Amino acid sequence: MTSNLINQKKTLFIKLLYIFSILTLTISNPISAQLAPAPGRDSTERNNPIEPFHIIDNVYYVGKTLHNPSYLFTNDEGHILIDTTFEEYVPDIQANVEKLGFNVRDIKIILSSHAHHDHVGGHALMKEVTGASMVAHEADAEIIESGGVADFREGDPWHEAKVDRFIGDQEEIKLGDTILTAHFTPGHTKGCTTWSAEVEDEGKKYDLVLICGLRMDANSPLVGNPKYPEMPQAFAYSFAVAKTLPVDVFLGAHGYWFNLAEKIEMLKDNPEVNPFIDPEGYYRIIDGWERAYLERLKKER
Ligand SMILES: [Zn+2]
Ligand SMILES: [Zn+2]
Repeated sequence: MTSNLINQKKTLFIKLLYIFSILTLTISNPISAQLAPAPGRDSTERNNPIEPFHIIDNVYYVGKTLHNPSYLFTNDEGHILIDTTFEEYVPDIQANVEKLGFNVRDIKIILSSHAHHDHVGGHALMKEVTGASMVAHEADAEIIESGGVADFREGDPWHEAKVDRFIGDQEEIKLGDTILTAHFTPGHTKGCTTWSAEVEDEGKKYDLVLICGLRMDANSPLVGNPKYPEMPQAFAYSFAVAKTLPVDVFLGAHGYWFNLAEKIEMLKDNPEVNPFIDPEGYYRIIDGWERAYLERLKKER
């Protein structure tokens, strides 16, 4: 089979998958799901430092605030860090790692959800401190290495960091017995990467998904964007992918997406039940993001 034909078949499959997903969405969710708004500039969620904590198995929250998560996947052979958030948060993230009893120098790999300032702004400094290697999807690597200048949407630049290795769709990162799988879910950035892993709790296995975010930018056009003309198709593809992922443990690149504040309280009240096992929460936000996307598509076309 020629590669062209394979591509055509792949595109057709994705289209069918997407049409099917819209149909099931309409049938199963007649009431529009309300998405929580992003916390405001002066909110405690954005500004107050929080204590690091254990999420599940070898996964820990080491982000400075509720709004800006950093995740540590620990292992005897070294740790993997996903998202460094802002450069000025790096010392807090390091302190959080140490507070949990781990050594920052044992961070061997730095990954990202997507190449925006609030997720990768600390990559350069964290790389310097840890000596870790940096792995990213090629499309986001270009943005990370340009300090944000190569992004299709404009924002404050950050210190550029060198990406050591590219990772493709469905490829795995292995460190000891930690395995993270990359799922290419473009749209929010051109290389937005959702990560999945299998984790264990009390002898049971769970699918963990860390969604990179399928939100559109409010300030730039979705359709006919000269810097990203294929954005509508990218989002459609990513919604289809996001819906086919098996999910038990739901994490994301911002805390309010998965009700982090509430879940921390739930964990304190009842440590026996892990609130991060929340597949409904995951599918609810994917549905909500997709509704917003379909509405914008209708308006702009
Ligand atoms: Zn972003
Ligand atoms: Zn963000």
